[in-house]
Amino acid sequence: MPTRINPWSLILVVILAYWLFTLLGGNNTRTSVSYTDFIAYVEEGKIARVVLQEGRITAYFKAPQRISVGNTTETTDRFTVVALPSGYTDLELIQLLRKNGVEITNRPPSIWGPLLYSLLPIAALIAFWWFFFMRAQGGAGQVMQFGQSRARQYGKERRVNTTFKDVAGHTEAKRELMEVVDFLKNPQKYITIGAEIPKGVLLVGPPGTGKTLLTRAVAGEAGVPFFSVSASEFMEMFVGVGASRVRTLFEEARRNAPAIIFIDELDSIGRKRGAGIGGGHDEREQTLNQILSEMDGFEKDTSVIVLAATNRPDILDPALLRPGRFDRQVVIGLPTLEERKEILQVHMRGKKFASDVDVHALARLTPQFSGADLKNLVNEAALQAARENASEISQAHFQAALDKIMLGLERGTLKLSEQEKRAVAYHEAGHAIAGEVLPYADKTEKVSIVPRGMALGVRWSKPEERILMSKEHLEDTLAMTLAGRAAEELFVGTITTGAANDFKQATSLAKQMVLDWGMGDHFKNVAWGSNTGPIFLGEEIAKKQDHSEETSRLIDADIRTILDRAYEKAKEVLSRHAEAVHRLAEELLESEIVQGERVREIIAQTQKPEAVAPTAFNPEA
Ligand code: ADP
Ligand code: ZN
Repeated sequence: MPTRINPWSLILVVILAYWLFTLLGGNNTRTSVSYTDFIAYVEEGKIARVVLQEGRITAYFKAPQRISVGNTTETTDRFTVVALPSGYTDLELIQLLRKNGVEITNRPPSIWGPLLYSLLPIAALIAFWWFFFMRAQGGAGQVMQFGQSRARQYGKERRVNTTFKDVAGHTEAKRELMEVVDFLKNPQKYITIGAEIPKGVLLVGPPGTGKTLLTRAVAGEAGVPFFSVSASEFMEMFVGVGASRVRTLFEEARRNAPAIIFIDELDSIGRKRGAGIGGGHDEREQTLNQILSEMDGFEKDTSVIVLAATNRPDILDPALLRPGRFDRQVVIGLPTLEERKEILQVHMRGKKFASDVDVHALARLTPQFSGADLKNLVNEAALQAARENASEISQAHFQAALDKIMLGLERGTLKLSEQEKRAVAYHEAGHAIAGEVLPYADKTEKVSIVPRGMALGVRWSKPEERILMSKEHLEDTLAMTLAGRAAEELFVGTITTGAANDFKQATSLAKQMVLDWGMGDHFKNVAWGSNTGPIFLGEEIAKKQDHSEETSRLIDADIRTILDRAYEKAKEVLSRHAEAVHRLAEELLESEIVQGERVREIIAQTQKPEAVAPTAFNPEA
């Protein structure tokens, strides 16, 4: 890591040094007296000794004196006098001093004071210029790197201790990467038989899924040095800096071969050239070209392998993906249920847990969590336990950590009026009851009307592990999502702004149904691409719309139809179970949190007998 020195502190040091210097060089005397007073003291015979110096005289009393300086008085044994201007040398002074028996010392003029004085502005100028130059070079954090070895601008580890054991799940990826490990360990085997060695491997997956971890594990398993850099660090103000950094990085790696280079966030420089906002950015392009030519320049027997990570392989420049470059892709997806369990176990190693901790249940509650999220969950639970001075981490600590991560902290200070509370209670009751009654929706874990984070109330669901989502599930999920607002409309009489987030979620889901999954009335089996997910602004703008205006209108109509249908469905189930909604809302107002079990009980108790099953006597039901 570069040493962080603030340039302003440098300037401060210069000023301080000067001040200190003049202080010491000036005989340490600050009490200053007029020439007339000085003569008077000499004539009174109070002065023992004087030091004559260019520009000033320092006088020493025989014994400390109380003298008046300006408006105040002070006791001192010495004082300074500003000497007469040169050319007005007081010839009588020497005589007067001698007559009064004052010891005279003569000191040559100090050269340091004036020298420093004249150098100061130059020093300040240099510091100023340095500051801006270095800033342009590498951000404020690297200001003082001037003249330092360039090798320090990226992470380098000679020995990596991470192994595949530290990476949970990702079995296929590990198998792929085993080959890289083997090559790094026994390059000769491959070279003798004339096999082409992989030069670049692209790890594709969302952030936090363990791409960096896997690469480190490859280096650790093979026992080779690990060089890492984030592509965004190449981006500099000055054109050419990025490219030269790439050069030094590859040089260093080659010198230490066999070795691994890891480039994180490859998409930040590897974007298609000429695409998107900032397309044709000279610096980006030069850096990218440098990477390409470095990889092309590898000799057949250079055992340096470049691993790169990205979340958006689709926006990468095709040149990067050509044979001999990043021609292998390894997909690192979000962990499955089993993998989440393993990851939790990896991070629970070496910590103390109560016997009630249910890893399987935790894995089930965290469907969209990445490896990094799960690690964070374990850590939050540990913090929670520490806060309570508990000796081990329990399931309750995990639950609290989970709630905090997913929903933000409870906001006990937020005070709602009775009316607002009622609206929130009905809103959440609406979600909960609809979720229970709709056959394909996720069931309720618990409901609460304690404000947390941005939300005034929450309904936790117990999602099931799904790889494929059926249309029925999607439709019921939509209805459940909109049931909050539906309950407000049906039972509270007014509608509130509390449903904004529900609408956003529902709309984006409906959009995906029409655009990605061919579920619109007009577009069976067509996928236009909804572009939801991590949006890369430039790409989206640059991308031409590949459907006509008429199609756009139909797409909008389909999305609307899906949402309207879901809302009607929500209203329908809630009116059918109005009794249950009322009861749940009342219980929420009373105790703030209601468990899923209780919700199901309420529904069972309020169910009208004829709704259970149609019979010959009651064919309407
Ligand atoms: P990425 O590079 O994909 O963004 P990282 O490798 O930086 O993700 O992962 C961040 C952290 O999350 C890792 O240091 C590790 O502690 C944890 N982690 C992620 N995936 C896994 C996994 N499969 N097994 C164990 N830990 C993981
Ligand atoms: Zn809601």
